[in-house]
Amino acid sequence: MIIVLKQNASPADVEELTKMLESHNATVSKTVGARSTLLDVIGDTSNIDMDNVMANPAVESVRRIQEPYKKANRKFHPDNTVIKVGNAIFGGGKIPVIAGPCSVESEEQIVEVAQAVKEAGATLLRGGAFKPRTSPYSFQGLKADGIELLLEAKAATGLPIVTEIMSPAHIPLFEDVDVIQVGARNMQNFELLKELGKLNKPILLKRGLANTIEELLMSAEYIMSEGNEQVILCERGIRTFETYTRNTLDVSAVPVLKRLSHLPVIVDPSHASGITWLVEPLSLAAIACGADGLIIEVHNDPKHALSDGAQSITPADFARLMPKLGELAKACKREV
Ligand code: PEP
Ligand code: MN
Repeated sequence: MIIVLKQNASPADVEELTKMLESHNATVSKTVGARSTLLDVIGDTSNIDMDNVMANPAVESVRRIQEPYKKANRKFHPDNTVIKVGNAIFGGGKIPVIAGPCSVESEEQIVEVAQAVKEAGATLLRGGAFKPRTSPYSFQGLKADGIELLLEAKAATGLPIVTEIMSPAHIPLFEDVDVIQVGARNMQNFELLKELGKLNKPILLKRGLANTIEELLMSAEYIMSEGNEQVILCERGIRTFETYTRNTLDVSAVPVLKRLSHLPVIVDPSHASGITWLVEPLSLAAIACGADGLIIEVHNDPKHALSDGAQSITPADFARLMPKLGELAKACKREV
C-alpha cells in the first residue's frame, strides 16, 4: 500500500497513522521527495481499511498494491483448488455439468429431469427450492418440500444436488444438500456468507448482477475467512446497456478470475442469456475460455415452467449439447 501525505501533514497525524498501520503488523517506511512524502506500507495489508487511512487528515491519497483478498488469492495458493462432489471434480481439469430446472415443481418433474440429465452425462442436479423472484407475486419455490423432492431425485439417480439458499435461518434445511448455491442477488449478503463459511460443504457463489470481479472475490473471502475454503465461483452474466439478452455473459471474467484466484470458476449460460438458443454457443465459449464447469437450466416442459421457461432447454436439447461440449473439451485437452 502506498500512501501519499499532504504537504502540510502534521507530524502528530503522521505518527498516529503510522501507529495504526503498525498495529496491523505492517512495516512502514517513509520516503521524502522534493514535492511529496510517501509512506510505503509493507506486509499483509488486507486487513487495513482504506477508508480509515483516508480519514486521517495527513493523507492526500492511498493506493493498494496488493489485492484486498488473501485466502482466495492465487498468489498465496498457486495450485488450483480442487472440489469433489460425488463423481464431479471442479478445478481438476474436468468440466462437470450441473443441470436441472430453475425451480423444483413436483416429484415427477424433478425425477424425470434428473434421470434425463444423468443419462446425457450431467454429474450434478440443480433445482431451486427457495426462489429469489423480482415480484412477490411470482412462484416463490416449494421451499422445504422442494429440498425433500431434490433428495428423492438424488436417491433415484445418485446425482448430488445443488440448490440456492436465501437466508441463514434456513441452513438446517440444507444439511443433506451437496452444494449450497448463493444466488446473484445474495452475493453480498454478508451475514449469510459468514454463516456458510462455518459449514464444511461446497458453496457455489454466483456473481452479482452488478458486481465487479474484485467484489466477487471479496465475497468468496467472506466465506473462506470463516474456515470454509470450498468455494466455486460462477459467472452468470452481468447487467449492461444491452437488452437483447437477459444479461451479458462476461466471458473475460473466467480467465481473469482463474488468474487472480485458485478457486474453480464455472459459467451459467442460462441466466447469462435468458434465451434457449444461446445456451449452446455460450456453453462452448465458456469451455473455450477455460471454465471449470457449467450450470445449465433444463426443464421437461419449458412452456409450462413456473420460472425461467424461456431460457430452459429440454432434456433432448441437453442430450444433443453434451457431446458437442465433450468434443470441444477434448480439443482443449480437457474432458466433460
Ligand atoms: C438460479 O440459479 O435459478 C438463479 C436465480 O440464478 P441467479 O442467482 O444467477 O440469478
Ligand atoms: Mn433460474
